[in-house]
Amino acid sequence: MADNDAVVKETKTKPASRYERGTRSYTMSRIRGKDTSIETLVRSYLFRRGLRFRKNDRRYPGHPDVVLPKYHAIVFVNGCFWHAHEGCPKRSIPKSNVEFWTAKLARNRERDARQQATLRDDGWNVIVVWECELGRAVREERLERLYGQIVGGGADVGTDAAGMDAVGTDAAGSAG
Ligand SMILES: [Zn+2]
Repeated sequence: MADNDAVVKETKTKPASRYERGTRSYTMSRIRGKDTSIETLVRSYLFRRGLRFRKNDRRYPGHPDVVLPKYHAIVFVNGCFWHAHEGCPKRSIPKSNVEFWTAKLARNRERDARQQATLRDDGWNVIVVWECELGRAVREERLERLYGQIVGGGADVGTDAAGMDAVGTDAAGSAG
């Protein structure tokens, strides 16, 4: 997964209001190039709803943001850029190094698909929450639905599943 490291600086960082600097999870998420605030948002909500979970469990493909063994549920909180959210306005290719970014983001997307398939094969209910689903106006509804998906076992692969069959499988060797 080290391929995210080199380009962390490229991410647009938001004001650090929602996470605690210096904590392990803060450091981990910086290393992974993810937006801590959206992960924290989801975790805080689930915790308030009484759910208990493991974070960034490295035993599982993709190091899921939230693992809930009791419900056999795994939640990924995905930034729309890094995970190439299909059809999403937040997903834009940088204007320089277009070829590099196109290939890289496609690889990220393929890797996500493989990892999620593996987890599903192992019996996990894999739920993806996208960054754009956590905007202020829509967040409450999404989080409410997420809770239902976890305790009720309803799977949700997000809003981009339709594009998956167009994804090639020739990058399988890069599964880190
Ligand atoms: Zn999105």
